[in-house]
Amino acid sequence: MFQNFFSSISKFRRLAINSYLDLLFPPFCRYCRSEHERPGNPLCAHCEAHVEWIHFRCLLCGAPVLNPGKGEKCIECRGRRLYFDSNNSLALYSGVIRDLILQFKKPNDPEILNYFSELISGFIHQNSAVRLLKNSNAPRREVILVPIPTRFFKRVLKGDPAMEMLTQSIGKRLGFQVKNLLKRSRNVSKQSELNRESRIKNQSKVFVVRKAVPKNSSVILIDDVVTTCATISDAARALKKAGASSVHVYSVARSI
Ligand SMILES: [Zn+2]
Ligand SMILES: [Zn+2]
Repeated sequence: MFQNFFSSISKFRRLAINSYLDLLFPPFCRYCRSEHERPGNPLCAHCEAHVEWIHFRCLLCGAPVLNPGKGEKCIECRGRRLYFDSNNSLALYSGVIRDLILQFKKPNDPEILNYFSELISGFIHQNSAVRLLKNSNAPRREVILVPIPTRFFKRVLKGDPAMEMLTQSIGKRLGFQVKNLLKRSRNVSKQSELNRESRIKNQSKVFVVRKAVPKNSSVILIDDVVTTCATISDAARALKKAGASSVHVYSVARSI
């Protein structure tokens, strides 16, 4: 009872402090920079309405399609060997979301981190990974959230790894354990400086596992932007080789 009483007081104090801070520093939109009345949201309603959400996606690689079909590969992933079971991206990597992701990569931006965490958590919750867990006929599997590791130079230059913080936040919301199971075995050229073919080759056999992966575990891999799927496919290859039975990827945006 006392615990409830004190937690109500501290909640009230937190709300009071937040309202006070909102008065002093009214929330502003991270895209158009105008003030808005949506505390905790990095976008104003107008800019959020311009995000290009992906409504129908390829059931394997997550590329936007007009008709999702019944699981056949789309033009982006046909003829390719992809090791993950599905990629699920929220939006197209353009305009508002592209700008927000570039800001998110700078350290210490809790507002954008919370926004992405809430969106991805909701997406995972309503999607296949959770349905699979609820299926009583399926064998019970350990679910582990794993972030795509930050490149070494980025970590040194920019400090706190945003992907790991985002994955921790999603884990807390959904009650799933988070493990940093992956590391890069070699440094590769920056993907954005290469053409499509070179990007795919560049990411082959880059990841290795850094600790044991529980046998038959279901891994949910978290990434910010998926482009050719080469990075997430290589990460899934390493995780499955080490014992994971499925790897579903959730990402903020898909660039095509
Ligand atoms: Zn705006
Ligand atoms: Zn596809």
